Amino acid sequence: MKKSEPAVETKNLSISWGNVNVLNQLNFKLNDGEKLAIVGPSGSGKSTILKILAGLILPTNGELRIFGEKQTYLRLDQNNPPDVRLVFQNPALLGSLTIEENVGFLLKKNKKLSKKLIHKMVRDCLAEVGLFNVENKLPNELSGGMQKRVSFARALITDQSLHAETRPLLLFDEPTAGLDPIASSRIEDLINKTNDKVKGSSIVVSHVLSTIERTSDKVLMLYGGKFRWAGSINEFKESNDPYVFQFRHGKLDGPMQPKDI
Ligand code: ADP
Ligand code: MG
Repeated sequence: MKKSEPAVETKNLSISWGNVNVLNQLNFKLNDGEKLAIVGPSGSGKSTILKILAGLILPTNGELRIFGEKQTYLRLDQNNPPDVRLVFQNPALLGSLTIEENVGFLLKKNKKLSKKLIHKMVRDCLAEVGLFNVENKLPNELSGGMQKRVSFARALITDQSLHAETRPLLLFDEPTAGLDPIASSRIEDLINKTNDKVKGSSIVVSHVLSTIERTSDKVLMLYGGKFRWAGSINEFKESNDPYVFQFRHGKLDGPMQPKDI
């Protein structure tokens, strides 16, 4: 990876399901080290953007560059995939694997790493998120909150021999949806800590105001397939833009209306 390249750059990125243009010619750039929030009502296409960035689905049209490299394949079909780590809303752990296997399974692909070293790396990452002596447990033996922390440990773990130079792109989809305010604060701290630790760039998709404000330095507002507003987090807090105002205050009046069913 070339250090000066933006983490993400899109040109007219579009995706349609049937004849619905969910994302309609989106252009945005995330510089290396920046922290972006993508906000917008349910169904506006936020998760779809993250899935495209994670290489899980392909856009219908347009161009996507990650760390300067044009992305034309799904991630599993790529020879030299960029270091992109997606943390889902639910922890998405594999139920029949132990916590150690869940966190370390990507490292296992590298035959040069000994079992002992992988064990130590996993233990260190679990300690970073405040979990101890859980390596041999199965996911369903842990509470929901602990499982969520395991999913962050999985995003923290880095195979230095493969990614010595890279600063990963971290993607968080609704990380605090449905959590109480204190649990949300803990997850927000964990997002920032994870980001600092791996020196990454991040995109957080959320409609929780505290999460947007505490984990991002700039904001994009998505609605109707287009970005309607872009600005810094401080501008977001004060803007009287009709989209931002309606979103922040949960108003029924405004440019964003439920689609006719
Ligand atoms: P958000 O994350 O902002 O709530 P999504 O990205 O999940 O929104 O979805 C955006 C829109 O795309 C929704 O209207 C959804 O119904 C539609 N959509 C997402 N995935 C598919 C799919 N595989 N087939 C058809 N429509 C889809
Ligand atoms: Mg979503």
